[in-house]
Amino acid sequence: AALKEVEPSAIREISVDIPEASLESIGGLTKIKEILAESVINPLIHKDLYKAARVNPPRGILLCGPPGTGKTLIAKALANECGANFISVKGAELLSKYVGESERAVRNIFAKARQVSPSILFFDEIDALAPARNDSEGNRVSAQVVSQMLAEMDGIEDLTDVQVLAATNRRDIVDPAIMRSGRFDLVIDVPLPDREGAIEILRIHSAGKPLAKDLKLETLAAKTRGMSGADIKLICDKAAIFAINEQIKDKRKAFRIMRAHFSRAVKEVREKNTPAGKKSRIRGNA
Ligand code: ADP
Repeated sequence: AALKEVEPSAIREISVDIPEASLESIGGLTKIKEILAESVINPLIHKDLYKAARVNPPRGILLCGPPGTGKTLIAKALANECGANFISVKGAELLSKYVGESERAVRNIFAKARQVSPSILFFDEIDALAPARNDSEGNRVSAQVVSQMLAEMDGIEDLTDVQVLAATNRRDIVDPAIMRSGRFDLVIDVPLPDREGAIEILRIHSAGKPLAKDLKLETLAAKTRGMSGADIKLICDKAAIFAINEQIKDKRKAFRIMRAHFSRAVKEVREKNTPAGKKSRIRGNA
């Protein structure tokens, strides 16, 4: 009885929850959401069908794409949709957190995922496990972590209730062992939003906000070309804050988020994203 109650301290540190995000809160990425729902949710919910058809679901799924495109959000939403526990681990954490005990850390994480199954195990920034040049100690640790990870994924028998997802924005440097192994059978590109996607993301993040009547999300979306979902969310938040500040200064005006607030927010976010040296050369929707 005591053993059931007391967990090894390393396992206790791993945070587990069922996220609140839903697939509806993700704008755009329609096809990707569909593929992932089929590949992640079905195996957890319809285990019997997979068993009857004698087929294994993909062992691991790798999401590749620029930062802020919603990779983490998708993984969380998938966990939410099937009521699975969500465990998120950053690649760099595995290398540094438990110095000299990285392999054990990996084992513990998989043990935890099994313990709280059905669960989704999400390795963020998995490129951090790539062999670093000219750093033999670092290379040794990352090779150990990767091989332990792959070994855990191989012992898949009792891992049927655990879905492994990983994300990277540097597919080019992901440890070749991970790509080669066939453990990450499904590789999915998560791109920056297209126009339709941007409109949806604007709609999601401005929902319930006091928007001015003449505000056209379609027009706004055109100004966010090349920006990520995270940027678009930031624009919505900034625009709201500009409106609040103005309202505090002048209470006679109606409290509305206007086009001008959004324009200023777009400008600020674009400036934030533009490296200092390039500012003078880039204008508008560059
Ligand atoms: P990534 O893991 O790809 O770096 P995140 O999933 O962490 O990106 O995205 C950060 C935040 O940006 C999300 O929590 C969400 O608020 C917003 N976001 C990103 N992409 C989308 C999207 N497609 N729809 C709605 N919100 C998004």
